[in-house]
Amino acid sequence: MTMTSPNKREKKPWKRPDRRRVRALRERLREMYGIPVNEPNRKPIDELVLTILSQHTNDRNSGRAFESLRERFPTWDEARDAPVGEVEDAIRPGGLAQQKAPRIQAILRELGEEPDLDWTETAPIEESRAYLLSLPGVGRKTAACVLIFSWGLPEIPVDVHIHRVGGRLGLFPAKASLERAHDEMLAIVPPADAYELHVNLIRHGRTLCRPKPRCGECELRRMCPWYRELDSREAIAGG
Ligand code: SF4
Repeated sequence: MTMTSPNKREKKPWKRPDRRRVRALRERLREMYGIPVNEPNRKPIDELVLTILSQHTNDRNSGRAFESLRERFPTWDEARDAPVGEVEDAIRPGGLAQQKAPRIQAILRELGEEPDLDWTETAPIEESRAYLLSLPGVGRKTAACVLIFSWGLPEIPVDVHIHRVGGRLGLFPAKASLERAHDEMLAIVPPADAYELHVNLIRHGRTLCRPKPRCGECELRRMCPWYRELDSREAIAGG
């Protein structure tokens, strides 16, 4: 009888999870982290600028930079028309001011004489997304943040935590690009669960499913392909 060597055991190809599995995951995360409540801020330009400021820094620094910017320039027209050096000074607490200041001004210029994004509340979401993506330096994650945090629209910004945790849990292929991961998340998550899963996957990524995961404490072990593979690798290594 021929036996397959455990070292040659084939890795299962990725398969898109079905609704039942996504629901089960939502339930388990809910037990661990509760049900987050989205309170849309109804300020899409603020959200857009804040998201640009949050790139490559933490929430505290970006929040300080945003406040300082608003204090210095109470309206977005003023921020748009100011000398770029003044905008840079205002957002310095958020880091990378030399790159972020011209980007913010370019976006504000693109938004027209009277910067306005309020129409994105009721426009078809594909149209709003496409418009946001056409703005200079705006990518999928930034556009998604504007739509979900300003209006509560069903979007799932894929940040570094969601990319890591979702890949391990098989929500998308572990090596998927951010773009692919985003598309897969939109395909499998029911609109009503978008915010909850977004927040709880991030919570999970910050607490247990860190770059070095604490699987021993994780309630998701039984539904985690990454853990199962790790388990079988360890079994092989242990003989
Ligand atoms: S079992 Fe480990 S890898 Fe899987 S979700 Fe939990 S912490 Fe992450």
